[in-house]
Amino acid sequence: MSWEEHVRRVDPYIPGEQPKESNIIKLNTNECPYPPSPAVSAAQKVFPYESGRLYPDTEATELTEAIALVYHVPADQIFVGVGSDDVLSLAFLTLFNGPGEVLFPDITYSFYDVWANLYRIPFRQIPVDEHFRIHAADYYDAPGGVVIANPNAPTGILESPAFIEDIVKHNPGTAVIVDEAYIDFGGESVLPLIDRYDNLLVVQTCSKSRSLAGMRIGFAFGSKNIIRYLKDARFSSNSYPMNGMQIALGAASFRDEAYFDEVCKKVIRTRERSKEVLRGLGFSFPDSMTNFLFAKHERLSGQEIYEALRKRGIYVRHWQKPRIGDYLRITMGTDEQMDMLFAALREILA
Ligand code: PMP
Repeated sequence: MSWEEHVRRVDPYIPGEQPKESNIIKLNTNECPYPPSPAVSAAQKVFPYESGRLYPDTEATELTEAIALVYHVPADQIFVGVGSDDVLSLAFLTLFNGPGEVLFPDITYSFYDVWANLYRIPFRQIPVDEHFRIHAADYYDAPGGVVIANPNAPTGILESPAFIEDIVKHNPGTAVIVDEAYIDFGGESVLPLIDRYDNLLVVQTCSKSRSLAGMRIGFAFGSKNIIRYLKDARFSSNSYPMNGMQIALGAASFRDEAYFDEVCKKVIRTRERSKEVLRGLGFSFPDSMTNFLFAKHERLSGQEIYEALRKRGIYVRHWQKPRIGDYLRITMGTDEQMDMLFAALREILA
């Protein structure tokens, strides 16, 4: 018998490339093109060097309280983690511990099936329709739980709070996770529902709208019960998940909501302008409410455009997968970066 028979083998998630060159336009991993709030930089300047000697605050109190103030949610209904990937991963492990299948769409964040496989959670992927739409009734009475990204990724399609509530209402017996990584770009959060549905977990992130992808800060809202279960699981594997820098800088970001609003508005403006330009160039796409567009060209294949852009130092995301192989996911950059993308596309399509 080989020890390798007892290894938990997994096919890992493959994140978008982080190219080493500096002279590129990076529109492939949905980062924010603008810097974090000046309040974050100020907090970094006064961050005490010697703080590394001591263990950090296990509860990340400063960060949790800053989030509590912004969202008007008690601190014991908030969970923070090392990016929302960490929060979601732990939520899968903790909340989907039954024998039934967890349901999520076939076209959605491609980490969901990876976590399900990692934790040996049975799951079923439900096909979205030909317009990439999710149908709420497909998720009624899910045997093991539900995960919905809203807006969905990589399609960018936003559903209303009533649509999400319909799914939650029809699943009183299992946990429902709503991944709101992109909710700040024009969507309405289902956060108010956590007071009515104690099986609902709403997950958000500082990576996109708060320009802190590199700091790895994610957070979730839920009933006291659901948050307690997550913390029990967390503190059974790591007592100090968030380091002092994440806690201090993350908290600083939540203390500057004016800057946050301004950045979101800028990204939304760029997105709406990009929709017009891309349409004019022969692209079609679902009406995204995120910081990216999921676009397909009338003539050229996704692969061709992806490669031609890459040669010009412009990185977008492309999946060689059924149903979405002809699409490119284009993150909104600055207006200048987008103009360079449009110029390159005009050349490629000429
Ligand atoms: N959910 C969705 C739908 C995403 O696209 C991403 C970004 N890859 C995440 C969660 C995770 O983001 P982070 O771990 O940076 O918070």
